[in-house]
Amino acid sequence: MLSLNRQAIALISDHADPAAEVGSEEAGGQNVYVRHVGETLAALGWQVDMFTRKVHASDDAIVQHSPYCRTIRLKAGAEAYISRDNLFEHMPEFVNSFQSFQRTQGMNYPLIHTNYWLSAWAGMELQKTSGIQLVHTYHSLGAVKYQSLAEIPQVANTRLRIEREILERANCVVATSPQEQETLRSLVSTRGQIEVIPCGTDTTNFRLTSKVHARAKLKLDSQEKVILYVGRFDERKGIETLVRAFALLKSHDLKNLKLIIVGGSSVNMPDGAERNRIENIVGKLGLKDSTVFAGRIGHDILPLYYTAADVCVIPSHYEPFGLVAIEAMACGVPVVASNVGGLKFTIIPEETGLLVEPKNIEAFANGIHRILFDELWVRKMRKQASANVNQRFSWTGVTIQLSELYRHVLARSIMHEQAWSYKMPSINRSA
Ligand code: UDP
Repeated sequence: MLSLNRQAIALISDHADPAAEVGSEEAGGQNVYVRHVGETLAALGWQVDMFTRKVHASDDAIVQHSPYCRTIRLKAGAEAYISRDNLFEHMPEFVNSFQSFQRTQGMNYPLIHTNYWLSAWAGMELQKTSGIQLVHTYHSLGAVKYQSLAEIPQVANTRLRIEREILERANCVVATSPQEQETLRSLVSTRGQIEVIPCGTDTTNFRLTSKVHARAKLKLDSQEKVILYVGRFDERKGIETLVRAFALLKSHDLKNLKLIIVGGSSVNMPDGAERNRIENIVGKLGLKDSTVFAGRIGHDILPLYYTAADVCVIPSHYEPFGLVAIEAMACGVPVVASNVGGLKFTIIPEETGLLVEPKNIEAFANGIHRILFDELWVRKMRKQASANVNQRFSWTGVTIQLSELYRHVLARSIMHEQAWSYKMPSINRSA
């Protein structure tokens, strides 16, 4: 539905389709972020169009999420899976498709919020021919990713250049944690405007509910100690560290331990290789009987998994933010996570979870053990974790901050580039 009274804005999310199923190789936090931000912005009074690349011929070209929020799938390359590392060559077609959509619909977006470096390139191309204002969120940074990769993809130099240009040229870059802001300043550029606005979670869906009920629904034994992983299969997610920590705990003759690994695509996607690797390790360590690969689980059922768990483990080598941490804590599950990036921002050590050295198997095993066997402390943490997420990370609170930022950027463009004097509203509302 189009409305004359609403300000139309566009979100661009090249590979991460906001209307797609989440949890497989290419679908993760960015899809969730764009979808929730879009839907919540529409609820706040904007008209929101979210643009992504059309991946399957059978997918609808337009998905209406709510009266003023839709996903628009644009033609850019073959209607088939193309890995992110090979998408850049198709971005000129993406820009053309965007422009022809704008023309045929008579739309004119004064502000575009781009997500990921490929979209940043598209946004900067669009800016060359129109007076649009640009806001950007990185989601992942080449400068960090390439530090840990044995093989650097061909597109690396282009990505690093675009990531610097968008920081220096966008009206504002949104860092999702103070840690990401620091990384941008130290690894990308000292120039450009950054505001810290975190990611959020749906606190009406991820919330405190009965563990007994969740265990019964998932047919889990009430006596078992359940350790949970939720996320994509990607080596940098550190699932191997968790599996080895689990083996270490079991070697100490601890009974009734179960590891549940949630995520991964069901069809032949590139994340299958990492899943096979992890399954092999599980087999070799003799953990098959106590490990469950649950596959991809939607956000409708996921709260049951968090609620049923005793601890949620996030062993990532790096996370700019890490949505899983706030989802788990919102459901009252303490987390044991790597002491990196946004996880240092969202988790309060000893109060809502524990932060340990990444890749350190023993440290993870110790952290998990502490949480599994200190019932009184965990009972306290459960309430603290949930209250903390409600206060700091509801989508409504977070999107109000984005909405205020857009208004400021648009007002400033009308008032001809006054000096940046934005003051972030201190909103900590729950949804
Ligand atoms: N996710 C999901 N189902 C799954 C696995 C993951 O819905 O089977 C979601 C998870 O709930 C979270 C997102 O995928 O919302 C992962 O976001 P995060 O920021 O933790 O990691 P990213 O994928 O961005 O690296």
